[in-house]
Amino acid sequence: GKGVAVFTSGGDSQGMNAAVRAVVRMGLYVGARVFFIKEGYQGMVDGGDHIVEATWSSVSGIIHKGGTVIGSARCKDFRDREGRMKAAKNLIKRGITNLVVIGGDGSLTGANLFKQDWPALLQLLLKKGEITEEEKAKNTHLNIVGMVGSIDNDFCGTDMTIGTDSALHRIIEAVDAIASTAYSHQRCFILEVMGRHCGYLSLSGSIATEADFMFIPEYPPEHDWPAKMCEKLESVICDQLGFDTRITVLGHVQRGGSPSAFDRLLGCRMGAEAVLALMEATSDTEPCVISLDGNQAVRVPLMACVLKTQAVARAMQDRNWEQAVQMRGRS
Ligand code: ATP
Repeated sequence: GKGVAVFTSGGDSQGMNAAVRAVVRMGLYVGARVFFIKEGYQGMVDGGDHIVEATWSSVSGIIHKGGTVIGSARCKDFRDREGRMKAAKNLIKRGITNLVVIGGDGSLTGANLFKQDWPALLQLLLKKGEITEEEKAKNTHLNIVGMVGSIDNDFCGTDMTIGTDSALHRIIEAVDAIASTAYSHQRCFILEVMGRHCGYLSLSGSIATEADFMFIPEYPPEHDWPAKMCEKLESVICDQLGFDTRITVLGHVQRGGSPSAFDRLLGCRMGAEAVLALMEATSDTEPCVISLDGNQAVRVPLMACVLKTQAVARAMQDRNWEQAVQMRGRS
C-alpha cells in the first residue's frame, strides 16, 4: 500500500487528535501504511524514532484530548534545503510519498515548498549516494494534503478551522465564570481573547456571552480606534457608573481543554477526506487543503488559499480593514 505520514505543525489546537486519528484509521482502512511524524517538521528532519508506523490501536483514546498527542514544533532546519534533504531521505527510506500536514499557513507553505523542491532533493540525494536509483524511481512524486488546525478561524477557504469552536467554548466558560463575580461586586470586566488578526472569536464570544461592548480588529475601521475605545470605556464605566474595572487576558487557556463535539467531528471528517484525496492523487495533482464549505468537507487549492490568507493578514497589519474583510470573503 501507499505510504502516508501525518504530522501536526505550528501552534496546537483542539481537535488535531481527532484529525490524526481519522487519517490513521482511514489510511489503514484503504490499505495504506500510515506513519506518525512526531514534533512536526523537526521530527521529519531528525527521523529515527520520530517517525513511527501507526496501528489501529495507536490512535485509541485520543479523541477527547486537547492539543496534539504526536507533538508539534516550529522548525528552523526545514526552511533550509539541507534540512529538507534530510527530511526527504527519512521519508524515502520508509516509502512515504504522501503527507498530511495539520497546521497553519506557515506549515502549509512549507509543505508546498517541499513538494516543489522534491525532484531536486531526490537528485541531490542520489548524487550524494544517500539513496539508490531504485529508491529515486519509486518515490518520484510527493503528494500533499493539508488541514488547518488553528483556533483563530483566520484561514481563507474554509468556513471553520479545527479548534475554533473549542476555543469559543473556553471563552464562554471563562466569561460565565467571571460574570458571577462581576455581578456580585459591581465590577466591569474587560476580557481580551486570543485570535490574531481575526475578530471571529471576539465577535462570536461577545454575542454568546451578552457582552456590552465588543472590539474586533476589523471594526470600527477608523485609524484611531484604540483611542476611541479607551474614551468610550472610560466615560461609560469609570465616570458614569463608578464601577471598578478588571482586565482578564485569556491567552493560551483558550487553546486548552477538551475539544468540542464540533471540532471532534470536523477533525474526523477532514482527516478521512484527506486520505481519500491522497489515494486519488496522480502525478499532476496539486496540493489541496480540506475545508468546510457549508456542511461539506471539500478540497480546495492549497497555495491559493495560503496566499489569500497571508494577503489578508498583511492588509490587517497595514490597517486596511475594509480590504481585508472583503478579501476574506466567506472564511
Ligand atoms: P500558526 O498559525 O500556529 O503559527 P503556522 O503553521 O503558520 O501555525 P509557522 O511557525 O509559520 O506556524 O510554521 C510552522 C513551521 O512550518 C515552521 O517552523 C517551519 O518549519 C515550517 N515553515 C513555515 N514556513 C516555511 C517556509 N517558507 N519554508 C519552509 N518551511 C516553512
